[in-house]
Amino acid sequence: MAPVTCSFCGRNKKDVDLMVSGISAHICNHCIEQAHTILGEEEKTKKGTKKSKFQLKKPKEITEFLGEYVIGQDEAKKVLAVAVYNHYKRLQQKDQKDDVKIEKSNIIMVGDTGTGKTYLAKTLAKTLEVPFCIADATVLTEAGYVGEDVESILTRLLQAADYDVEAAERGIVYIDELDKIARKSDNPSITRDVSGEGVQQAMLKLLEGTIVNVPPQGGRKHPDQKMIAVNTENILFICGGAFDGIARHIGKRLNTQPMGFNKGGGAALADRENLLQYVTAQDLKAFGLIPELIGRLPVLTYLDPLSKDTLKLILTEPKNALVKQYARLLAMENVELKFEESGIDFIVDQAVAFNLGARGLRSICEAIITDAMFEIPSDDTVKELVIDAKYAEEKFNKSKFKRLQVA
Ligand code: ADP
Repeated sequence: MAPVTCSFCGRNKKDVDLMVSGISAHICNHCIEQAHTILGEEEKTKKGTKKSKFQLKKPKEITEFLGEYVIGQDEAKKVLAVAVYNHYKRLQQKDQKDDVKIEKSNIIMVGDTGTGKTYLAKTLAKTLEVPFCIADATVLTEAGYVGEDVESILTRLLQAADYDVEAAERGIVYIDELDKIARKSDNPSITRDVSGEGVQQAMLKLLEGTIVNVPPQGGRKHPDQKMIAVNTENILFICGGAFDGIARHIGKRLNTQPMGFNKGGGAALADRENLLQYVTAQDLKAFGLIPELIGRLPVLTYLDPLSKDTLKLILTEPKNALVKQYARLLAMENVELKFEESGIDFIVDQAVAFNLGARGLRSICEAIITDAMFEIPSDDTVKELVIDAKYAEEKFNKSKFKRLQVA
């Protein structure tokens, strides 16, 4: 009988570890492995072609999309849209040989807590369909101290990209609470400032674009994990912070401007309610960000404080507005949910009273609606739930919020 040989490479059965036999052919372990590699490559190419279909949205399209979810904040939307658009144009220009080098447009957003900084960044990443992660600057410390190294930010991005390094390298990172790593005083100090200036220094190289060795699982718990090299040159960093107290500083600065600043008849200062709109790099420096870091975040924008009217819109208007979400939940129980104007006003008033920004809307709604959500599934007789001021107040007064208020 003829010896069994691999139908692909011709190796003899006795020269290989494994020979799989089909109806009229055989394949050895070497050829199986090779075929597997080819399949993998093929998959990668397919993914690559899919990626190249990435449609760059124009700034106006980006703001329109953002507007479906985020209410107001027009200035921030515009600035973000332009920065992101230019960022991706920059990526496309990469192969150009001339001297014009478009620089990275990392962004910094200043705005009170709960005004939508994170939400804007998140929604932005959704429009662009790129990996996105949120990192919190408060947990970062200089390498070697208790806390997370700055590189851990990129671990999150890698995870968000399913460890596809190439995708991660085009991603967006939102760094929250940047103000918390501000230097404690305006004067450079000689003592070590582990959680402040040191972290800012460590962040510099990340922001400007360099190859960083990233621990794939993060942290220092896995000392022998293999590092993954990630190039941050094309990663867009968006930083946000409330910068508590910066408004006062801006006010002071504007008041001490030399005469002539107010050529427009003082109009610039008319809006005392929203001093953040006049924020400059100088204010950030005074707050305690080092100039090098500010320099690497060239796009500076602000978020407006949320007025009652805006809060009302946030509650009812966006595509996934809270009111719509609750209505959907109850519709699944065949119950129609109606929010009366007075009920909405009550919720907004409480959010303002507790100074919780838009973030408070949800917990206040929960406090009001939980009883109904508990009872309704077991009660077939209910066909409609109307939330007016009276209902809202009654439920709210029974909730933990009321106890907070008394305390
Ligand atoms: P910040 O990062 O500024 O502290 P967030 O972005 O986390 O605030 O906002 C908290 C929540 O409030 C968001 O998840 C979102 O549901 C809601 N929110 C805040 N601002 C807006 C807005 N302008 N439009 C719609 N929803 C908003």
